[in-house]
Amino acid sequence: MKAYFQDIVDGIRSSCIGLGVTFSYLFTKSVTVQYPFEKVEVAPGFRGLHHLKVDICIACGQCASACPVSCISQTFHRIDKENVLVPEFTVDYNKCLFCWYCIPVCPTGCISMGEEYELATFDRRSLLYDLIARGETTPTRDMDLFREEMREAIEKRREKKPEIAEKADELLRDPTVGLCGRNPAKEKSRSSGRSEVAPS
Ligand code: SF4
Ligand code: SF4
Repeated sequence: MKAYFQDIVDGIRSSCIGLGVTFSYLFTKSVTVQYPFEKVEVAPGFRGLHHLKVDICIACGQCASACPVSCISQTFHRIDKENVLVPEFTVDYNKCLFCWYCIPVCPTGCISMGEEYELATFDRRSLLYDLIARGETTPTRDMDLFREEMREAIEKRREKKPEIAEKADELLRDPTVGLCGRNPAKEKSRSSGRSEVAPS
C-alpha cells in the first residue's frame, strides 16, 4: 500500500519537474522561426543560388570546366575578342553540389553565390536556372551603349565572316540573349567622354 502511494507521489514529482522545464522555455527567446513567413539570416560566406554579372563575363568557360558534376551549361557566340553573345548560361540545381568550385576560377569575378536558398518545387524542370534571365549587369554600365558597340562589332565582321554576323544579328534582336565580354572600366561614354567606373 505504501509503495502504491509512493508511486503516485513520484509520478506527480516527475511531472512537475518536466512541466517546470517546459514553462521555463516560455519566457526565453525563441530559437525557431515561423518559416516560410519568417526567415533566418544566413551566415557570411553562405553558398546560395548563383548570380552572374553577364556583361563582364569573358566567355572563358572556366566555371563550367571546374564544375565536378557538369551542371553549368553555356553557349557563347563570339563576334570578336571582346564582344560575345550568350544565348544560354544555366545552372542545373538538380545536380549542383553548392561546392563553390566554379567561383574562384572565374577571372573576372562575375559569377558568385548569393543568399537565396529556397529551391523547393514540385517540378524538377524548374530547377534549371537561367542566369541571364535572372538578369544582372554591372550597375554602372551603359547597356544601351554596349548594345550599340556590339552592333558596330558585328558590322566589322560582316565582310570577312558573314555567317557569324548573320547569327549575331539574330541573337542581338532577342532580348533574352546576354551581352558579355568587355570590361566596363574601358567603356567610354560617347556623349561625355568619361570612363565608366569599374565593378567592385
Ligand atoms: S557550386 Fe559546384 S556543383 Fe554547383 S555549379 Fe558550381 S562547381 Fe558546379
Ligand atoms: S562566369 Fe567567369 S569563369 Fe564562367 S565563363 Fe564567365 S568569365 Fe569565365
